[in-house]
Amino acid sequence: VMRLWGMSQWIMWEVSALFENIGTVQDGMATLSLPRQIEDSPEAKPLAIDRGEIVFDHIRFHYGKGSGVIDDLSLHIRPGEKIGLIGPSGAGKSTLVNLLLRFFELEGGAIRIDGQDIADVTQESLRAKIGMVTQDTSLLHRSVRDNLLYGRPDATDDMAWQAAKQAHVAEFIESLRDIHGRRGFEAHVGERGVKLSGGQRQRLAIARVMLKDAPILILDEATSALDSDVEAAIQENLDQLMRGKTVIAIAHRLSTIAAMDRLVVMEQGRIVEQGSHAELIRQNGLYARLWRRQSGGFLEAATTPSSAHEA
Ligand code: ADP
Ligand code: MG
Repeated sequence: VMRLWGMSQWIMWEVSALFENIGTVQDGMATLSLPRQIEDSPEAKPLAIDRGEIVFDHIRFHYGKGSGVIDDLSLHIRPGEKIGLIGPSGAGKSTLVNLLLRFFELEGGAIRIDGQDIADVTQESLRAKIGMVTQDTSLLHRSVRDNLLYGRPDATDDMAWQAAKQAHVAEFIESLRDIHGRRGFEAHVGERGVKLSGGQRQRLAIARVMLKDAPILILDEATSALDSDVEAAIQENLDQLMRGKTVIAIAHRLSTIAAMDRLVVMEQGRIVEQGSHAELIRQNGLYARLWRRQSGGFLEAATTPSSAHEA
């Protein structure tokens, strides 16, 4: 079945930008490798972040049977740099960020954050320092409050409301009532709780990451399930959240990441192009083609970002 879908990753990318859930459908059909339990080494120390530099140093990884290969990939992300990661569906973008979180073990090379190999730090401290929103958020079968405070248990209700407002999900939370009559923050969501739409779950995940306020931020199709007007409203708050943090943002819609410090284009587990929006447009390669296609009415109209670097 993967053969069929794999015929043209390019077509997949374009189609999945139109039908944004197809990534999940595709995942459902692939043979998925689930993360194995990775043990901390006995000498593991907590990760200490002072600047937020991330180095992918000649990393290699595959899921098995030759599928999903990351092949000798190196990327040096400066402290506070905002990276926009782009590439066709299946290029390995999500794999790369999953490796940064150490959900899977590398087969070669190393990933270092502020000089510390992530294999030498505790996984708990690693994940505590990274805020991540993915395309498909699953919620704990717990109260809305527990779901929001997950990354920051000491936060007050005031702080949680603030984050919910920034993620444009506060009104929705106020309207919630579960089958036991619990309302708002007390209402239980998740599998056996109130069923939420993909967009509602995604907004809760965004509120969670705003509350967590970690020094490294990963946005993997973080606004893919939102209407474009809601997305635009939240984007401003996300931009604010990004300040002072090291960010990796993945998006199909190029207009949402074109203004990042550096765009990195991946294809088949490799980096094939990188530079600012202006530089990549001038290079007239893969990115430029995609930009023209997306701004030419094939997808939605994309405007040239005003803050894009004109180096
Ligand atoms: P992208 O995020 O760029 O769309 P992914 O990193 O999700 O790409 O996937 C890269 C490749 O690895 C694809 O061929 C995909 O099918 C495969 N893959 C992704 N996750 C898994 C998994 N958990 N198990 C097996 N193969 C996977
Ligand atoms: Mg992905």
